[in-house]
Amino acid sequence: MTNFLPLVEQFHSLQGEGYHAGKSAFFIRLAGCKVGCSWCDTKHSWDEKKHPSISIKNIINQIKIAREQGASFCVITGGEPLHHNLNKFCKAIKKETSGEQQNPIKIHIETSGVNSISGIYDWITLSPKRHLPPKNYFLEHFNEIKIIINDKKDLEFAKEIRKEIIKKFPTSRLDNKFNQQDKRYFVQPAWDNENGLSLTIDFVKNNPDWNLSLQTHKYLKIK
Ligand code: SF4
Repeated sequence: MTNFLPLVEQFHSLQGEGYHAGKSAFFIRLAGCKVGCSWCDTKHSWDEKKHPSISIKNIINQIKIAREQGASFCVITGGEPLHHNLNKFCKAIKKETSGEQQNPIKIHIETSGVNSISGIYDWITLSPKRHLPPKNYFLEHFNEIKIIINDKKDLEFAKEIRKEIIKKFPTSRLDNKFNQQDKRYFVQPAWDNENGLSLTIDFVKNNPDWNLSLQTHKYLKIK
């Protein structure tokens, strides 16, 4: 475990996508990704050697500032953040942001699920990839799933993965924060892809278990 992480950027903005869209959040974009999606919009994050190693203390200081300014949670994203062991980082965030007057800040993560879990999270966004499916662990332990839609095969993948999840983990356990009934299913058109957009809209119209997610931050031209 490390006291330093390769960082592309950190910033306070609005969550643009998924269930928490529109909420104030602090983003930590870690460098490094070997998943290799052809349509990736953060290819600059892939090579972690091109980004500075930043101490977790420094990142946590920025989280604290953002929280004072209104951020309700922090989002660890990438790249693929779970290429790194995040146990120490998450523990330190929780410890350093809790006090007599406040609960620790909530930690969200966005992952493709290809690595083993490390760290502790209040919200897991699983964004599985067709060419490199997630580990079984994540098919049970996620709060929302978000499938990026480029073409029809992505919609088939969305249907298949939901079927697989419900077959493998059908029961709702009331003490489980990953309750099946509380899971949210999103399809999100790839940015700047007209075909993906119309496919996604038709899919949601015909499949009420699925919700539309849009990259609202891109429409708003904010980070
Ligand atoms: Fe890009 Fe995410 Fe795919 Fe990595 S997993 S290539 S960061 S879209």
